[in-house]
Amino acid sequence: MIEKTNDTKRVVITGGAGFIGSHLARRLVEDGHIVTVIDNLITGDLENIADLIDLPTFEFLEQDINSISKISGKVDYIFHLASIASPKEYLRYPLQTAVVGSIGTLKILDIAKEKRARFLLASTSEIYGDPKVHPQREDYWGNVNPIGPRAVYDESKRFSETVTITYHRLNLVDVRIARIFNTYGPNMRKKDGRAIPNFIFQALTNEPLTIHGSGKQTRSFCFVSDMIEGLIKLMQSNYSNPVNLGNPNEVSILELAKKVIKLSNSRSQITFTDPMIDDPKVRKPDISLARKILQWEPKISLEDGLRQTIAHFSRTLVKKKVR
Ligand code: UDP
Repeated sequence: MIEKTNDTKRVVITGGAGFIGSHLARRLVEDGHIVTVIDNLITGDLENIADLIDLPTFEFLEQDINSISKISGKVDYIFHLASIASPKEYLRYPLQTAVVGSIGTLKILDIAKEKRARFLLASTSEIYGDPKVHPQREDYWGNVNPIGPRAVYDESKRFSETVTITYHRLNLVDVRIARIFNTYGPNMRKKDGRAIPNFIFQALTNEPLTIHGSGKQTRSFCFVSDMIEGLIKLMQSNYSNPVNLGNPNEVSILELAKKVIKLSNSRSQITFTDPMIDDPKVRKPDISLARKILQWEPKISLEDGLRQTIAHFSRTLVKKKVR
C-alpha cells in the first residue's frame, strides 16, 4: 500500500474517469495522495469521480492524451490507464483505440521521462490473444491475429509493452507493467458491452442474456477492489517486467450467465448469438509471479463480487427511474 500522510505523492492517472481508473483515484485520495486525472471521456464518465471533483487534493483535466505535451508541477507516479477496453467499444472506435495504445503511450512515457516519474502501464491479458498455453504465464508470447478486428487493441497494447520496456532498458523511465485480466465491479457502464455489465443489466430487466457463441469459452473475473490493491502493490514494487494481475478462478461464459440470473433473482432466459471474431476460447492468469513478488492475490469470490455489482447496478436503475 502507498503509505498514508507523511509520504504524500502526486499521482497522475490517465483514464482516471473510467472504470478501474476512478476506483484507483478514490483509493489514492483516501490514502492521502494528491491525484490528477486526465481523461477525454470517450468511455470515461464524470459521474464516476463526482464525489472527488471538489476535493482540494483532486484535479480533473479533460484532455486527450494523444495531444498532451506537458503536465504542470512535480509528478511522482503515473498510472497509464487511458484506453478503450471493451471489445464492443474498440470495434466501434478502432483507430482511436490503436492510436491511444501507441501514440498515447509514447506521449505519456515522454512526460514520465521529463518528470522523472515512475510509470505503470495498464497492459492486458489480450496481449496473449487466443492463447495456446493455459493458464497464461508472463513468459508466454501469445497468439494474436495482427489483422483481426481485435488487433487495434491487442497490437497497440503489445506495442505499449514494447516501448515501455525499451524506455526502461535505455534508463529513461522507471517502469511497471501490469497485465490486467478481466475485471468487473461498480462504475462499469451499462452500455460497456462486456459480459458482466451486459448480463447484469439484462438480468435486472428480465431481458434475455445474450451469449456470443456456445458459451463454452472461459474467462477468469477479478473484482475491482482486488485489482486496485494489485496495481498499487506493483507500483510500489521494484519489478519492471510484466506481471499478470487477475483472479485465477476460471468459469465458462454460460456458467457466468447462469450465476448472474440466480444471484439477481431474475426470470431472464439465455439466448445464443453469433460468436465474436477471434474471441479467445480460454483465459486464466497464472499469478504465481504476483503472489511471489507482491504477496498479492485476489480475496473477493465471484459470488461476492457479483452480489456487490448487482446491488450497485440495481441502485443505478432505481435512480434512473426516479429522475
Ligand atoms: N460475451 C457474451 N455476451 C455478451 C458480452 C460478452 O457472450 O453480451 C462473451 C464474449 O464473447 C467473451 C466473453 O463473454 O467470450 C467475455 O467478453 P468481454 O467482452 O466481457 O471481455 P473480453 O474478455 O472478451 O475482453
